[in-house]
Amino acid sequence: MFEGLARPPSAPHRVRVFGAPLDGTASFRPGQRFGPAAIRAASDEIETYSPVLDRDLADASFADAGDLELPLGDAAAALERIGEAAEVAFADGAAPFALGGDHAITIALVRAAARRHPRLRLVQLDAHADLRDEWTGTRLSHASVIARAAECVDAARIRQLGVRSGTREEYAWMRAHGTRTGFAHEELAALVDWAGEDPVYLTVDLDVFDPAFLPGTGTPEPGGIDWWAFQRFVKEAAARMRIVGADLVELAPGLDPTGRSAILAAKALRELLLVLA
Ligand code: MN
Ligand code: MN
Repeated sequence: MFEGLARPPSAPHRVRVFGAPLDGTASFRPGQRFGPAAIRAASDEIETYSPVLDRDLADASFADAGDLELPLGDAAAALERIGEAAEVAFADGAAPFALGGDHAITIALVRAAARRHPRLRLVQLDAHADLRDEWTGTRLSHASVIARAAECVDAARIRQLGVRSGTREEYAWMRAHGTRTGFAHEELAALVDWAGEDPVYLTVDLDVFDPAFLPGTGTPEPGGIDWWAFQRFVKEAAARMRIVGADLVELAPGLDPTGRSAILAAKALRELLLVLA
């Protein structure tokens, strides 16, 4: 990963990256299980220096723990293993950073983070509200991530950026709890104020990007952000929040024969590692 700059998990590190190649709950087009491998491969092809942040991954403290071995066809058992991996990272003093996999992995990651950090706040970047109580017969769906997260993180401690698709009920919930915000300078400044010194879990569903820039995802949604909105989020918000865990999910590399989706995902990973590690 990143031309060998990732440390082995046995060496000291602040951020522990691991793959969670789950796509059992994807409702439309699967293939997210190939996301971690595609992000790693693309990461070797991009620069390790960020001109916007003026930082280089050579100076960042992160390890790559490889991919978890997940049981196929048993989402509950897979989430169990993902939650354990996050807990082990926390116990070792590292921030877990999971590469999906479909968004359901975040259910286990947020639960583990909330157990570790009772004052946890949750920031979601996503095209979708993910507030369905259940979807395609399971409550552990990638469409139910925030519904499950809201069972362990109070709605007042959740913010959702980039959402542009959902049911009438999902929009009513977001309005009632004031969770929805965006990428304008003022909104990002307000987000930083809202987070304060509290620990934050950051989940990035890559379909927050417009399908023009990131077509390789299972449920693309027109009207998304471009790279510069994301870069603004990293520089003006993420870099100023106390992020204790994160994930990057929903890349389905097989759906993008040009490979640009994986490159964008790897670049997003680089920027986030530069502010976390
Ligand atoms: Mn989504
Ligand atoms: Mn999602």
